[in-house]
Amino acid sequence: MTAIYGKVALIGLGLIASSMAHAMRRSGAAKVISGTSRSAETRATARELTLADEITDTAAEAVRDADLVVLCVPIGAMEAVARDIAPHLKPGATLTDVGSVKRAVIEAVGPHLPDGVHFIPAHPLAGTEQSGPRSGFAELFDNRWCILVPPDGADRKEVARLARFWEALGSNVDEMEADHHDLVLAVTSHAPHLIAYTMVGVADDLRRVTDSEVVKYSAAGFRDFTRIAASDPTMWRDVFLTNKDATLEILGRFTEELFALQRAIRTGDGDHLHAYFTHTRAIRRGIVEAGQDTDIPNFGRGR
Ligand code: NAP
Repeated sequence: MTAIYGKVALIGLGLIASSMAHAMRRSGAAKVISGTSRSAETRATARELTLADEITDTAAEAVRDADLVVLCVPIGAMEAVARDIAPHLKPGATLTDVGSVKRAVIEAVGPHLPDGVHFIPAHPLAGTEQSGPRSGFAELFDNRWCILVPPDGADRKEVARLARFWEALGSNVDEMEADHHDLVLAVTSHAPHLIAYTMVGVADDLRRVTDSEVVKYSAAGFRDFTRIAASDPTMWRDVFLTNKDATLEILGRFTEELFALQRAIRTGDGDHLHAYFTHTRAIRRGIVEAGQDTDIPNFGRGR
């Protein structure tokens, strides 16, 4: 395919950036890929893997002449990175990010950008519990959604170009307003992660169940919680610190439902439990039918 951008700069070289690099190579979406990371160790690994055409020691060098700059660092680090690269951005370039929360990134990054740079925040809804430059793979974004959150007055031509870029990387693309994005993600991702973290913490606390029993019998539901609860602590700390209101709202509703189920169990209200589980089973079927998971026994998680 003809390249969608001349030079694409990846700031941060972890799971998401390295997957983008592989997917760009697969599709030819970029003519040249540059990249940088905070630590010398990650930069050395990225060089060893030839993740990009140039791995630079500083972000300022990486963004020089770049047509698209992608911030792929934890949300709490976005502001400092934006401040650092802002004077070096090419006029007319697009700056985007992959952060899991959008309102906080817009507020942190937006004020630092010079006029003439297009700021189009984005969030690919794809990930694993792995991190670092070795964890990326080209198929990560295939058939997953990438949500663009263009601010009012964004240049529609550049928004369409960024959408084409994510489509070339395998994604389906949608647009949302930032606060709505943060609420949707609180339901679909952030609150479930917090619940998984809690469940794994509770199991660990239960002295009656020995470690070996937890491991041995984990296929009975618990295993999926442990996979989610192994997600990167820095990334998830930042998600909860920056998507506070939406997450607290969803957790409030969750607690009410949990109490209702608790009462149904205590009072032996089988009808309530059955109706509830019938409803949730239909939701699962809807997700499978929408092509967002498969019914194969390992839950489609080959990696
Ligand atoms: P990751 O694999 O842990 O990589 C993080 C990268 O950010 C590394 O290159 C790291 O540099 C760099 N970094 C960490 N702290 C930094 C700081 N304070 N200043 C500058 N750079 C810093 O993370 P990831 O999973 O790719 O996540 C990156 C972004 O994608 C996050 O904003 C996250 O919200 C978003 N996201 C993640 C997922 C997911 O499931 N993982 C899904 C969608 C979106 P060094 O290695 O050199 O220290």
